[in-house]
Order: sequence, then structure tokens, then C-alpha cells
Amino acid sequence: MRLDSVVIAGGGIAGLLAAAAVGPHTQHITIIEKDDLPAEPAPRPGVPQGRQVHALLGAGQDAMSELLPGIVEDFAAAGARMVDSPADLAVFGRFGWAGRVRSGTQTVMMRRPVLEHVVRSRVLALPNVIVYRSAATGLSMSDDRTRVIGLQLLDGTTAEGDLVIDATGRVSKSMDWLADFGYEAPAEKEMRSHIGYATVEVRLPDDAFDDGVAGVLAHPHPGNCRGAAVVPADNGIYLIAGLGMMNQDPPRDLDGFMAHLDAAPSPIVGEIARKAEFLTDIVTYRVRGSRRRMWEDLERRPEGYLLIGDAVMAFNPLYGQGMSVAACEAVALSRSVSTDSTVAGLAHRAQAAMKDVIDTVFAMAVSTDGAYEDAELIGVPRPSPEDVNAGALLSQVATDDPEVALAVKRYAHHFDRTDLRSPSIADKLAVWQADGRKVVHDNPLIIPGIIG
Ligand SMILES: Cc1cc2nc3c(=O)[nH]c(=O)nc-3n(C[C@H](O)[C@H](O)[C@H](O)COP(=O)(O)OP(=O)(O)OC[C@H]3O[C@@H](n4cnc5c(N)ncnc54)[C@H](O)[C@@H]3O)c2cc1C
Repeated sequence: MRLDSVVIAGGGIAGLLAAAAVGPHTQHITIIEKDDLPAEPAPRPGVPQGRQVHALLGAGQDAMSELLPGIVEDFAAAGARMVDSPADLAVFGRFGWAGRVRSGTQTVMMRRPVLEHVVRSRVLALPNVIVYRSAATGLSMSDDRTRVIGLQLLDGTTAEGDLVIDATGRVSKSMDWLADFGYEAPAEKEMRSHIGYATVEVRLPDDAFDDGVAGVLAHPHPGNCRGAAVVPADNGIYLIAGLGMMNQDPPRDLDGFMAHLDAAPSPIVGEIARKAEFLTDIVTYRVRGSRRRMWEDLERRPEGYLLIGDAVMAFNPLYGQGMSVAACEAVALSRSVSTDSTVAGLAHRAQAAMKDVIDTVFAMAVSTDGAYEDAELIGVPRPSPEDVNAGALLSQVATDDPEVALAVKRYAHHFDRTDLRSPSIADKLAVWQADGRKVVHDNPLIIPGIIG
């Protein structure tokens, strides 16, 4: 039987991109969304993180462009600011300023509700997609309980489909829904690093930054868990954020917020905030950390049921990966269904096809957050001291060497480790160590120029 109808719980980024992925291969797609989706870009209750800083990495742009050709141009038309992030965004971390280097690729900077609005406009214009407003409350199963055939909804109705997708985000209730039919929960891996955000929309004077700098990120690190960022968004708006790791949450009152910015590894964000016109309240948000559910490893799973986005793997947001991973997962779904749209086995094949990108990005989260002594690792080993030292060496060399800085960017933004494994990079790391070199660009008050 070929795929004819798909039901998706959740109309956030992952649900919308899942619809785009199956769009060409099915007749009917119903997105079940509990929020009243706004006609204009606006924050909404179902995406409570929506007012915090969001960036769309290169991997996410490539994946979204594969699903929705021309979407990056649509982002630009909606006012997004495009930055060559390793050059234009100055990042001060544990080992000084990351090497500012031109990559020739662009990172999309815009407020999350605006970005989602652009994606939503494209997906809801597809002729076979409809949105039904209700909350999913459980599953409908075949009589023999081997196949999910639909979602039960809060309004008492049922939405049926050949393929049912959970895209409800971090609040996903799939484990409970499946338990109701005797299915075991998947194994979980978790990295608890207790992250706090506080963000405000601002306007900045034209001379807020040094020439060539579009934003500044003073990243929290194990030596200072309080961070800060000022980054461009859409339509001339900037976002200023306090960032905290290990329960060092930035507060929402102005004095506390400013004190948090001032305590970041570089005080430059605080200095810029003093020149800013605040346009909104300061809005806070907390996340426990990164959590991966091993849905693809379940020995016994029903046919016809798939999970995507934060419902599978929700990340520490500091690294800006969540939407991009959701987009890569949607591409995996698209390729699975275009290879073979037979319903039998499709959900399992697609879930398995998402594994590589999730594993890669989860490994990043473990290696970075695992360097914090107080981080709690559940179901996953702490990185060895050798791994932590190797990461530290890489970060140090990347402050000064354009090739290494670009390879780090390729990994962080495109989830691609190939360049990092090249012999020339290994040589450079060995030489740096053998020569006992030290980071030069480590003055938190002075943003260095472009290297290379
Ligand atoms: C503070 C913060 C900053 C972040 N920064 C970035 C960043 O810079 N870059 C990046 O790529 N990612 C970032 N992320 C992650 C990003 O927000 C998520 O990874 C991404 O939104 C996941 O999308 P999703 O569709 O899976 O879930 P969500 O965006 O949470 O969407 C879930 C949808 O499901 C709906 N829903 C929920 N339950 C039900 C139900 N029972 N029935 C029907 N509908 C339901 C909700 O209303 C919502 O529309 C950040 C996250 C946080 C918390």
C-alpha cells in the first residue's frame, strides 16, 4: 500500500518541515496544532522558547532549501539579516576570541516567530496540507495494536492517517501514548547542564559595533557560567541575551540582567546594551539540557508511527542546533519516502535514517557540556580528560589559524567533521602543542580583526 494520508501532531518547525518532506508523496496531510496559528509573525504559547535568540545554521538552511526551494530568499525578503558568522560575529570563549575568518557562507539571523511564519506560509500553501486546531491527546491503534492509525484529539474526534508523526517538541507525550498500548519506552540519554536565557529586542545606534562586526557573543564556559550575546535579527532589530549554564540563570529585572551581561567573559555586550533602546520586556526561559530518546532502537514498535524534532532529541540551545537538526531529520524522511513510499516499514526506515545527524550533534553536546564538572550525564559516558584536552587544543588553535577556524565552523554549522580530520589540521595541532604556543587574541575588551 502506497502512502495516501499523513497526520502530524504539532505545527512548529519540525511538523511543518515533516509536511514539506512528505508533501510530494501523499494525497492528504493534516497538521494537528493546539495553538491558534497567527496570520502574522507573532510569538505563541505552544513555542514558549520563541522569544529567545535563534539562529539558523548552514545545515538547516541547506536542508530547508532542499525541502522548500528558495526558502532562504524568502527569509531575506522577510527582513532576515545574513551574516558570514565566523567573520561577522565575534565570539569570545574560554580560550579567547574564536578566529574571525570569512567562510563564504551565510547564517540566517531573524526572530524565531518571523522565521516560523515564513516556513509556515510556504508549507500551508501546499495544496494537500490542512491545519486542524486541536490538541492530540493519544493514539488510535489497529485492533491488533501493531499499527498506529491516527491521533485522538481533545475535541473528541480522531484524525486518521497511514503515517502518524509526533512533532510536538520537548513536551511530547509519545512515551505515555505508546505505554497505553503496552509499548515500552525507548532508552534515554541526557546531559543536564541547566541552561537559562533572558532575551530582549532592541535597536542599536549605527556605531554600536567595531567596523565589520555584526554581533558579539561572550560564551559561557566552565570557568564562567554566565554569558551574553548581542546579535542581529530581522528588520533592523537586534536581540540582546543573557545566557547561563549550570543554574546561573540571567534574571528578567533590568539591574540583574545588566549585571549578568557585565559578568560575562567579555563585558562588550554589556557596554553595547547601555547604548541600546529596549523595545520589549526581558523574557526568560530555562532548559534542563540535551535529551535524546532512542526511538530508532526500540525492539518492539508499532508500524506507522514516527517522531521528529525536539520530540526525539532536544538540545542545549546555546549551540543553535535544534531547528537545523529538525530540518535534517525532515530531509531524511523525504529521502526515505521518495525511495519507497510503501507504508509498511516506512516509519522505521525514516526514524533510522535520522540517526546519523542526531548522533553527531548529540556527541557535540556531550563533549562541550561534559567539560562542566557539575553537568549530570545520564546514560552516556563523561568525555575523557584526553577528549576534553583535545577539544581545548582545537579551540586554541582556531583562535589564530584560518584553516582550523573554518574546519571548526564546518563541524559546528554543517555537522560535518571531514575537514577536522584532515592531516593538515592534525599537523597544525601537533605543531602548536610542540611549540608550546599560547593564545594571542585573549583580551576580552579588544575584538581582533579578520585572520587569513
Ligand atoms: C532558549 C532556546 C533557544 C534556542 N535557540 C535556537 C537556535 O538558535 N537555533 C536553533 O536551530 N534552535 C534553537 N532552539 C531550539 C528550537 O527552538 C527547537 O529545536 C525547535 O523549535 C524544535 O521544533 P519542534 O517543532 O520540534 O518543537 P516546537 O518548536 O516546540 O513545536 C512544537 C509544536 O507542537 C505543538 N504542540 C505541542 N503539543 C501538542 C499537542 N498535544 N497537540 C497538538 N499540537 C501540539 C506546539 O504548539 C508547537 O506548535 C532554541 C531553543 C530554546 C529553548
